[in-house]
Amino acid sequence: MKMIGVLGGMSWESSLEWYRLANERVRDRLGGHHSARILLDSLDFAEIEAMQVRGDWDAAAQLLTGRARALEDAGAELLVLCTNTMHLVAEQIQDAVSIPFLHIVDVTAEAIRPTGVRTVGLLGTAFTMERPFYADRLGAHGIRTIVPDAAGRRVVHDVIYDELVHGVVREESRQRYQCVMEDLVDRGAEGIILGCTEIELLIGSDDAAVPVYPTTSLHVDAALTAALAG
Ligand code: GLU
Repeated sequence: MKMIGVLGGMSWESSLEWYRLANERVRDRLGGHHSARILLDSLDFAEIEAMQVRGDWDAAAQLLTGRARALEDAGAELLVLCTNTMHLVAEQIQDAVSIPFLHIVDVTAEAIRPTGVRTVGLLGTAFTMERPFYADRLGAHGIRTIVPDAAGRRVVHDVIYDELVHGVVREESRQRYQCVMEDLVDRGAEGIILGCTEIELLIGSDDAAVPVYPTTSLHVDAALTAALAG
C-alpha cells in the first residue's frame, strides 16, 4: 500500500471525514486489521481563510506548494488536496512535486461520466461556484456546470463558513440546501456535485431528486485505488 500525502481541510472537520472514510474503506477492501497509510498535514484554517478573503492566491499557492513538497520529502507516494476551493492553485501544487497528484475535479468527472449525466449543478464555496477554474475543468471532461443564483450561492457559502467548518449541522440549513438543489434541477441539472468537502456532513443522496456526487468520498476512493494499485 502506497503512502498517501494529504493536504488537509482545509477545515479539520473535513480532514477528519477524509481520514475516517479512508481507514474504513481500507478495512473494507483488505479486511483484518488493515488501515490506510497516510501522512496528513493539517493546516491552520484561519490562515487559509484569510488568504481566500483577501484573494491572495499567490500566497496560498506558495504555502501549499511548500507543504506539498514537505509531504513528498517525508515519504508520500501520491498527493491529495482535500478541498475543492484550493484547487484554484492545483496546477502550482502539481508542478511542485514529482509524485502523482489526484485532482478532485478529474476524480469527480470520472465518477459522473459513466452515469450519463452531462449537466450538473455545483454547490461549493463562492470561490468554487463563481471562479472559472472548476467549471472549466469539468467542461474539459464534457460536463456542463450550472450554479445557484446569487441568493442561493450566498446560502450555500455562508452555511459552509458559518456552520459546517465548525462542525455545526442544522436541519434548517439542510432544508435551505434542498431548496437550492430543487432550483438547480428545475433549471436542468441532472446531478449535483457536493463541491465542498464539508457539504457531505449535511447532505446525502436522499436529499436530492437527482444523483449527488460527494467529492470527499469520491476523492478517498480514487486515492485508495491509486494507493492499492499494483
Ligand atoms: N473545504 C472546502 C472546499 O472543499 C472549503 C473550505 C476550504 O477552503 O478548505 O472547498
